[in-house]
Amino acid sequence: MARILVLGSGIVGLCCAFRLSLDGHSVKVITKSISDPTSWVAGGMLAPFSEGLSGELLNLSIKSLELYPAFLDAIYQTSGQRVELHKDGLLRLFLDKSAIDESQHYINQREDFFINETRLTAVSFKNEGYLDPTSFMRALLSSLSRLSIKIITDKIISVERDNSKILRLIGIKDIYSADYFVLCPGAWAGELLQIPVFPTKGQALLLETTVYPKTLYSDFAYIIPRENLTYVGATSEPKDFTKGNTIGGILKLIEGFLKLFPEHKNLKVSKTLYGFRPSTPDGLPIIDFGENFALLTGHHRNGILLAPVSAEIVSNALSSKAPKLEAFSLNRFLKTP
Ligand SMILES: Cc1cc2nc3c(=O)[nH]c(=O)nc-3n(C[C@H](O)[C@H](O)[C@H](O)COP(=O)(O)OP(=O)(O)OC[C@H]3O[C@@H](n4cnc5c(N)ncnc54)[C@H](O)[C@@H]3O)c2cc1C
Repeated sequence: MARILVLGSGIVGLCCAFRLSLDGHSVKVITKSISDPTSWVAGGMLAPFSEGLSGELLNLSIKSLELYPAFLDAIYQTSGQRVELHKDGLLRLFLDKSAIDESQHYINQREDFFINETRLTAVSFKNEGYLDPTSFMRALLSSLSRLSIKIITDKIISVERDNSKILRLIGIKDIYSADYFVLCPGAWAGELLQIPVFPTKGQALLLETTVYPKTLYSDFAYIIPRENLTYVGATSEPKDFTKGNTIGGILKLIEGFLKLFPEHKNLKVSKTLYGFRPSTPDGLPIIDFGENFALLTGHHRNGILLAPVSAEIVSNALSSKAPKLEAFSLNRFLKTP
């Protein structure tokens, strides 16, 4: 059993803390704020095919989709909170039928979808789905509390290292040591660790009614049903770390929503949201290991989707040898062409 310190209380950090505690380790979490992780504002689509992922990232995503039901069940067993996983409830809309990749083996079914007189093709992909990340985060925090995992609020300002070993995390309030460190600082990884991770700001809206019972993913906006609400997402603004929603961002979301549902002009906006996706230059996550640490960041648009598999990889690394995931290693950015 190791003393493990997890940095970050986003979905990746909390899933790792939960899984490592179930494995029998003694786990603590450090976060600069429980409420600022981007994970609270995500749409919650688990949609690798609709997202057009490919290669190693698609394989990783499929694995995570497979892990999801058992992972949510384990959270339910610990917290008593059931996070509903909506499978088969996600439709990818195509204006132009020829944009559908017919070689996709994962197409479940297709149906017509009308916006006024315009016919679109709606495709559903096997195993894709969605959940509400806010219930997932709440259930995780409740599980952590039941597992007596302490959450410390502090901002880490530097990481003291000796080659591939972390010695200590230096916070504003205290200094932290552990047998093993799991670093999940999301979009802030770039500034803390001087690695090529940058924020891609995303803005979203919550509307005061459920307008459609399924998730609709289109090129101009996506809408996700929430309890008595509709989530409208999302903008994509690379290298923007400014807090708050903007008129331009909200306008884009509203225009996208009204293209799908022009009859709903009078719906009330319940809440505006924004967050910072952890992005990398090649769009792939960073899942890497040192002698006594794991680094997990860069999950970009798919951190909710990839959280269970991220936790499983760290759990396997601690129980046996750290895996070599070349495609996701930090080294890929250091290689000379
Ligand atoms: C609008 C929007 C919609 C999205 N929709 C989806 C979707 O539908 N499906 C999907 O899979 N993904 C989606 N994403 C992406 C997803 O939200 C992210 O990939 C995911 O939340 C990243 O999780 P994380 O744990 O790595 O980072 P975060 O959730 O940002 O957590 C990082 C944590 O690290 C802490 N931290 C950072 N630096 C320090 C420090 N120096 N000291 C102490 N603590 C620190 C922060 O306080 C925070 O707790 C969306 C993102 C946005 C913005």
